[in-house]
Amino acid sequence: MTQGRKNHRLYIGIDVGGTKIQGAIAEETGRILAREKCATPRKGGSAGSVAAIRKVIADLLRKEGARAADLAAIGIAIPGVVDPDRGRVVVTPNMNLTGADIGRRLETRFRVPVVVGNDVNLGTLGEHWLGAARDASSAFGIFLGTGIGGGFVQRGRIWRGARESAAEVGHIVMEIGGPKCGCGNRGCYEALASRSAIERDIRKAVRDGEKTALTDLLDDDLSVIRSGALKRALERRDKLVTRIVRRAAEVTGYACLTVRHLVDPEVIVLGGGVVEACGDFLVPIVRKIVEADRLPGAREGGRVVRSSLGDDAVVLGAVALARQRVGRDPFLTPGTADSMYAEIAAWSVGKITIGGAAYDHDVYIRVDGKVKDRKRCPAEKHGAMHKISLKEVEKMCKGGPEVLVIGTGRTGRVVVGRDVREFLREEEIQLQILRTPLAIKAYNQCRARKAALMHILC
Ligand SMILES: [Zn+2]
Repeated sequence: MTQGRKNHRLYIGIDVGGTKIQGAIAEETGRILAREKCATPRKGGSAGSVAAIRKVIADLLRKEGARAADLAAIGIAIPGVVDPDRGRVVVTPNMNLTGADIGRRLETRFRVPVVVGNDVNLGTLGEHWLGAARDASSAFGIFLGTGIGGGFVQRGRIWRGARESAAEVGHIVMEIGGPKCGCGNRGCYEALASRSAIERDIRKAVRDGEKTALTDLLDDDLSVIRSGALKRALERRDKLVTRIVRRAAEVTGYACLTVRHLVDPEVIVLGGGVVEACGDFLVPIVRKIVEADRLPGAREGGRVVRSSLGDDAVVLGAVALARQRVGRDPFLTPGTADSMYAEIAAWSVGKITIGGAAYDHDVYIRVDGKVKDRKRCPAEKHGAMHKISLKEVEKMCKGGPEVLVIGTGRTGRVVVGRDVREFLREEEIQLQILRTPLAIKAYNQCRARKAALMHILC
């Protein structure tokens, strides 16, 4: 696909992580045209990591059939402290970019402006631009993974603090004299509720003789317990995992109270691997604590929402920062058509065009803008099921849209069952079920976070 090159304002956002480097090339509106990733090199020092970042950028350009000259700017998200004014990395505790002059090196290579920012700050900025905090004037992001990171943005500006280290929510002390934290202090929020802390507590309980389904799920090897395994253990109602993750959720609830009392953000966004996997269990516990706040006047603000962009939050935040750098600040032109979503341009029976790409049978569009083929069903007269199953709807609603638009074909033959309507009501997803031409119009005009299924075969 090369339709993105028309306006010659492409951006690249890169999320540099301790285990992988992922990037995306996007239009100015935030619509992602292509993605690319690679493993973070373990060897070769900072030069090796910079080379890997360069390769991801080059691969993105090649994938999109673009040249560096088609780029307006590049944004790089770094897991550590950065000096955004100089484009330098100050320190990265968990990888080897400390001291790297990354902005200058990439600018020399690609001859476009390059900005660098902290990854969690940029994740919060991404959610503020196009995600769960889109309509809020301020947002505080809390991201629970191996560690716990925080970011604060207000009207499109990252709050940097005096030394680029504001919003380090993971290191507010929540238990005086508590467990040692990676930062050197004791009893930090991160030392109590990060995935590493959860793993540590589970391993200790098992050493003390407690039983857990994880032993079975992970073949007796508890040296690494990923969020997905925690999720599966929660689904099995494992007593030990439920107790420890509930504790982490409670600590997170009180951390949210502290955030609310300190900075009074309009929205608190919860994200990161632990929340992505275990959010259904964790978020209600957090909300209950936050809603029970007794401090007069505080209860109105700081509502807790789940991140809606997932892995894309950081890369889109990097794109937003890149736009700010070249004087195209997405937050200075509110109400414009910034959107991750492609427009559905045209359709006729058996053909639909979405963002320049043509599809010859039913498709669904997820909340992250990805277009997926709907499964064919050769047994049916029109090659696709006319009854949409709950399973299908669950799949297309991955990531929690606010609106689901279903196009029922030219003659309106597609139907959904009562189980589907019930599911959508429970998930608070608004359903618009319309004949396909009207559904396309409704989808294109909808400004909310949206998903769609378009039946086009009859
Ligand atoms: Zn700490």
